[in-house]
Amino acid sequence: MAGLFRHLGSMALAALVGSSLVFGDATAADDTPAKQIFGKVQLPSNAAASPIGFYAKGCMAGAVAIPTDGPTWQAMRLSRNRRWGNPAMIALLERFSKDAAGLGWGSGILIGDISQPRGGPMLSGHSSHQIGLDADIWFTPMPAQRLSSQAREDFPFTSMLDKSKFLTVNPQRWTPTHAKVVMQAASYPQVERVFVNPAIKKKLCDTWTGERSLLGKVRPIYGHDEHFHIRMHCPPGAAGCKAQAPVASGDGCDKSLSWWFTKEPWAKPVKKPGDKPVKPRFATLSDLPKACAAVLAAPAASEQSATFGTAYVAPQVQPAQSSDAAIQQVINAGTSDLPDGTIPIPLSRPSLQ
Ligand SMILES: [Zn+2]
Repeated sequence: MAGLFRHLGSMALAALVGSSLVFGDATAADDTPAKQIFGKVQLPSNAAASPIGFYAKGCMAGAVAIPTDGPTWQAMRLSRNRRWGNPAMIALLERFSKDAAGLGWGSGILIGDISQPRGGPMLSGHSSHQIGLDADIWFTPMPAQRLSSQAREDFPFTSMLDKSKFLTVNPQRWTPTHAKVVMQAASYPQVERVFVNPAIKKKLCDTWTGERSLLGKVRPIYGHDEHFHIRMHCPPGAAGCKAQAPVASGDGCDKSLSWWFTKEPWAKPVKKPGDKPVKPRFATLSDLPKACAAVLAAPAASEQSATFGTAYVAPQVQPAQSSDAAIQQVINAGTSDLPDGTIPIPLSRPSLQ
C-alpha cells in the first residue's frame, strides 16, 4: 500500500509540475482564453490516444505527429506545430497521400494544419481542429523536390477561385484531378465530411460523373479555396468524442448549396443605432470538457516517441521551433481559412456543418 501511495504521490507531483509548465507563472486566471494555454503547449500528453469533446470544443490526449516528410507528402508551415492528430487521422493521411499520388496529384500531398499537440482552441486560423480529427490539405500538389523548412513557411497558397467573379472556380487552375483528389478523400468510410468552398462544391455538382452519393459528404463553407478540410468520424470506442450530426442523404447539390449563392451568407449584420460593440468572448478551460484540464497537466511524450508511421528518413529539415518566437509567428500567421480579394467576408461565420 505504501508503495502505491508513493506512486500516486509522484504522479500528482508530475501533474503539478506539468501544469506549472503549462500555465507559466501559474497566473492563468479562470478567464484566460483556452487558446492561449493550448497554443503554447509544445508536446502531446503521454497517454492513450483519445479525442475529447467536439471538433470545435475539445482537446486531445495521446496525439501523434505525422513526420514532416514521407514518400508522398510534405508537412507545411512547420513553425505552427500543428501536425499532431489522432493516430487514425495520421494513418489516413499517409494512405490518402499515396492514393492522391496514384491519381496523378504531383508527387503527393502538402499537409496544412492538423491539430496542436494537445488539441484545443488555436491562437489563429480555425474554430475546429481541436480533437485531432480534422486536417487541411493544400489544393497545390506536392512538388517533386523537398522544400526547405523556410520554403514551407513561405510557399504561397493558391486559390482555386477566379477572384474577379463571385464564387466562381478558376478554370485555368481547377482540373479533373483536383476533383478526383477531393472525391478520393470523401470515399474513405472513416471520413465524415470534406469541406470546400461553395464554388468548388458547385463545380463538383456540375461535373462529377462518379459515385454521386459521396458528393453529399463534400460540404460548402467559407474559405477553403486554397485548401480542403478532411474531417473524420469519432474512431470506434472513443467514448469521450462527440459525434457531429450526420450529413443529409443525397449529393448536397440542393438548396443547402444554392443558399451560398444568395446574398444572405455574405451580408454584414445590421447594426441598430445604440448597439454596443460586442466584445468577443473566447472559450476558457472551463468551457471545454473537464478532462481537458487533465490533458494539459499530464506528462509529455517526446516528439520522437510520438512521431507516427513511416520509416522514411527526411532530408535535412529543421524541426519546428520551440521558442516564444515560434508562438509569435503562430499568432501573426495569415488566416488561411479566410477568403480574400473580392470575395466578401461575412462578419459572423457559421461553423462547419
Ligand atoms: Zn481546416
